Amino acid sequence: MQYVSTRGLAPALTFDNVLLTGLASDGGLYVPEQWPVFSKDELLPMTRLTYQELAVRVMLPFVGTALSEDELVDTVEAGFLSFRHPAVAPLKQLDRNRWICELFHGPTLAFKDYALQLLGHLFARVLQRKRKSVVILSATSGDTGSATIEAFRDCAAVEVFVFHPHGLVSSVQRRQMTTVQADNIHNIAVTGTFDDCQAIVKSLFNDVSFRKAMNLSAANSINWGRIMAQVIYYFWAVLAIGGHFRKVAFAIPTGNFGNVFAGYVARAMGLPIGLLIVGSNRNDILTHFFTTGNMSIRPVVPTVSPSMDIQVASNFERLLFEIHARDGSVVERLMTQFDATGSFSIASHSLKEIRGLFHGYAFTDDETKAAIAQVYAMTGELVDPHTAIGIAAARASLVESAMPIVTLATAHPAKFPLVIQEATGQQAALPAHLEDLMCREEHFAVLPADLSVVREYIRLHARR
Ligand SMILES: *Cc1c(COP(=O)(O)O)cnc(C)c1O
Repeated sequence: MQYVSTRGLAPALTFDNVLLTGLASDGGLYVPEQWPVFSKDELLPMTRLTYQELAVRVMLPFVGTALSEDELVDTVEAGFLSFRHPAVAPLKQLDRNRWICELFHGPTLAFKDYALQLLGHLFARVLQRKRKSVVILSATSGDTGSATIEAFRDCAAVEVFVFHPHGLVSSVQRRQMTTVQADNIHNIAVTGTFDDCQAIVKSLFNDVSFRKAMNLSAANSINWGRIMAQVIYYFWAVLAIGGHFRKVAFAIPTGNFGNVFAGYVARAMGLPIGLLIVGSNRNDILTHFFTTGNMSIRPVVPTVSPSMDIQVASNFERLLFEIHARDGSVVERLMTQFDATGSFSIASHSLKEIRGLFHGYAFTDDETKAAIAQVYAMTGELVDPHTAIGIAAARASLVESAMPIVTLATAHPAKFPLVIQEATGQQAALPAHLEDLMCREEHFAVLPADLSVVREYIRLHARR
């Protein structure tokens, strides 16, 4: 399997190189040359597989010859060892037609573990074959940093530097990062904002001599390996509720559009997905786009669902590529215009096609809390604020339809205890493996938001 760039100019690459490369050299994102498709007859027996067996079936065509099937089986086994639920991604029925798929049973309690745990083991395999090692830089406002650290803590060929804004992440989130003891993990608190952290990581990447000298690599949300791993739970959920013979809708709390795009891929691979419902908080440029066909950048506002406080959804470019018949020159034109003016529009026939499959809904913080309270009153379940937005979007979208809707539950409620308390009066308890989190020893450096200071720090502390 070869991968091509959404802007059509970068060279095609194989899976192993796409995994390590991240962004294509023309600024685009890599996608497979064509989508592997499962027929109805092939889907039916897949209902009997475990999550891990299904993961191998779904990923095998994407991996190509980069790993043998046996190697992929081992990678998948290792990748899901740290998950605490035997089903990995259990489904719960909320009422006659609505379900949630719980994606918070990994080590850091957010859905990012479902892709990053696999990615850690995929990186280890590929780097071992190539006899290489890489440095990964990650800027985080909360969840991504800890999921990245947990994914690579046992991978000696990867050195991880995670940047968080000093004093601006919650103490649970900070401790999930800074209490990990491993030689290859480096936590840096930057005296600045999340934007400062992101700007530093971006500048270091654009510094070609530094990038080459350090062998910089990226495990961020545009990495194809993460999208691929997220396709698995769409298969899992659809097959679990009998969707190989009826259409199923998904409601997805959305930030960078990676999770939603994985749903698009699952549909392209033959799953009968009838609708992808995109839930947003007040950072609602996607909702606006689905209504008007115009994408216009606006400033980010902080909300009670911080992992979705994003306006520019970086994976949306992959959908633009699909909708424009995989013509990279159109995507190149739209994205260049977006970078220059902060706005682009698509043709009305393209918008019509998008609206046939995607619906977008946005909710305020008050509406989010009301949704948490309502789910609790109806079912006794505590859901986190991100999941609550998914559930509210599902309700807004298909009030009278017979199509079953699965909401992806993207975080454990204990990650957001204050909001849960406010909405329901209940305490959301941390799972046992994190009970002593607040007493563990922390390790992190505090550095100024100064590019040259950070660059020197990495040079000194990368163990090579
Ligand atoms: C990252 C994240 C999201 C957004 O996912 P995208 O793939 O970026 O759209 C939603 N909810 C939670 C809890 C997250 O951590």
